[in-house]
Amino acid sequence: ATPTSIMVGTGKAAELGVLFRSGAALEGLQGVQVVALDKTGTLTKGRPELTDLHATDAFDPDTVLRLVAAAEASSEHPIARAIVDAAHARGLAVPAAEQFEAVPGFGLEARVQGRPVQVGADRYMRRLGLNPDAFRADAERLGDEGRTPLYAAIDGQLAAIIAVADPIKDGSADAVRALHAQGLQVAMITGDHARTANAIARQLGIDTVLAEVLPGGKSDAVRDLQARGQRVAFVGDGINDAPALAQADVGLAIGTGTDVAVETADVILMSGDLRGVPNAVALSRATLRNIR
Ligand code: ADP
Ligand code: MG
Repeated sequence: ATPTSIMVGTGKAAELGVLFRSGAALEGLQGVQVVALDKTGTLTKGRPELTDLHATDAFDPDTVLRLVAAAEASSEHPIARAIVDAAHARGLAVPAAEQFEAVPGFGLEARVQGRPVQVGADRYMRRLGLNPDAFRADAERLGDEGRTPLYAAIDGQLAAIIAVADPIKDGSADAVRALHAQGLQVAMITGDHARTANAIARQLGIDTVLAEVLPGGKSDAVRDLQARGQRVAFVGDGINDAPALAQADVGLAIGTGTDVAVETADVILMSGDLRGVPNAVALSRATLRNIR
């Protein structure tokens, strides 16, 4: 590629809100066969809302929500804000937690008014020696609706199933359609529940789903896709997306995402609108066509 055509290409891209960090990124993007995207905050808004809470007979739902919100108040996870907001919306007084510890990829553990509280995925309950299967039918239904099922344990007992729903961003479905029209495969990589991830992938027409990926596992997921002999672009926004952005043949970050994702990426999408991804691919192809 000539320096001039690369400069023209990156200039046009910038007008469309796509920042190529290097000429190599502009050249690299036209060679990818798979675009893998993070789900939360990338394909979805990253602003989940609490939609469901079913307590076991031994617990009162408002008590569960109050204790769980107290536990989540110290968490930075998007799920935490959904739960705290829901407690406030119900007019519940949320006490301060005495102890708090995040368990990345699983959930969190806290002590509230002397009571142990754990909140997280089904695999977290199992790790605690609790069986979430009492809520199995609920969890399957919620997952199939694209909601994320979570569980609360209080006093060492399974207390409730909770669900949050994170709306799909405007532009995500169009972006997937445009990538397909460009002949690319589209994959989703997420730590979320498999049924939830599959339901959202179905709504978006995504081909491949890698779900329940632990933090740190996203770069392995990218490597697995590359091991099929394909060149992979990865699109993400979060701290735990940085290794996958680095592993990918081309890493694209949402400009409003976390600093570490933006710093690691080869391409930055200034707006959160994923139509920037097929736009970037089109520009990369056009630039390289002009050169040849
Ligand atoms: P993702 O970024 O895809 O949500 P994470 O690794 O952050 O992946 O979380 C994976 C899963 O762990 C979540 O879907 C949820 O089930 C559980 N989890 C993580 N943090 C929390 C939290 N603060 N409260 C409840 N559940 C959590
Ligand atoms: Mg994310």
